[in-house]
Amino acid sequence: MKLRQICGAVAGVALAVCLAGCAGGGAQGADTGANGSKTYKIATDTAFAPFEYAESDGTYVGIDMELLDAIAKKEGFEYKIDPVGFDAALQNVQSNQADGVIAGMSITDTRKQVFDFSEPYYNSTVCCATKADGGVASLEELRGKNVAVKNGTMSANWAESIKGQYGFTTTTFDTSDVMYQDVLAGNSVACFEDTPVMSYAIDKVGMGLKIVAECDASSEFATPYGFAVNRGANAELLQKFNEGLAAIKADGTYDKIVSKYVQTVK
Ligand code: GLN
Repeated sequence: MKLRQICGAVAGVALAVCLAGCAGGGAQGADTGANGSKTYKIATDTAFAPFEYAESDGTYVGIDMELLDAIAKKEGFEYKIDPVGFDAALQNVQSNQADGVIAGMSITDTRKQVFDFSEPYYNSTVCCATKADGGVASLEELRGKNVAVKNGTMSANWAESIKGQYGFTTTTFDTSDVMYQDVLAGNSVACFEDTPVMSYAIDKVGMGLKIVAECDASSEFATPYGFAVNRGANAELLQKFNEGLAAIKADGTYDKIVSKYVQTVK
C-alpha cells in the first residue's frame, strides 16, 4: 500500500515534469527565463532515501534535494528537478536532456570519461542485504541462488564482479524500492545496494531486510558521491555547485542537512 502510494506520487511528479517540459517547447537542458536567467534541469533517482524520495504529496526531499537547494540559494541559480530514475538520469545528462545529475552518484574513473564531477560530498560503500527473517547469512550461501540488482549502479557492478566466485545469478531492476520488494517477496534471495541507503531503509523505514556483507571500504565499488554534468558541458553549473558546497560546509548548513536525515555525518 505504502509502495503503491509512493509509485503513484512518483508517476504524478513525472507527469507534471513532462508537462512542464513539453509546455516549454520541449527545450533540451536549461530553459531561459524571461529575465534571461537559466533554469537548470537536474535529473535524479525516483526513490533513493535518504538522498532523494517523494513525500506523499509528490514533493522531492532528501539530502541531495536539500543540498542542491541550499547551494542554488547561495549561488543564485534556478533549477527544476526531473526524477527519472538513476540509469535514465545518467543517460539524460549524457544526451544533454538534463544539465546535471544529483542522485547519490558514485564518482568513478570510468564515469569520469563521460561526466565531470563536483567535489565529493558523501562517502559510501556497497552491501548485500537479505530478508531479516530467514534469508542467507553470507555471500557463500548465495550459491545457486538469484539476487536482485539495480540497473547501472556500482552495487550491481560489485555483484557482477563476484557472481562467478560465489555462483549466483542476477535479476536487474530500475528502482531500489522494487528491488527490495523482490527480496521481501522471496523471488530473489538478496539484493545489492549502497550501504547508507540500505541502512536507512532498514533502520528508518523498517524494511524487513538485514545487511549480510559489505564491500571493502578501499575497493573500487566504494567511492564517494558527487554531482555530475556532461563532460565538457555546463562548466559554470559545476563551478557554482562546488562553490556553493564549500560555502554550505563552511557555514554548517551541510552538517545540519545530513544530520536531519542520518544520525552521524559521514
Ligand atoms: N551510488 C550508486 C551509483 O552511483 C547508486 C546510485 C543510485 O542508485 N541512485 O552507482
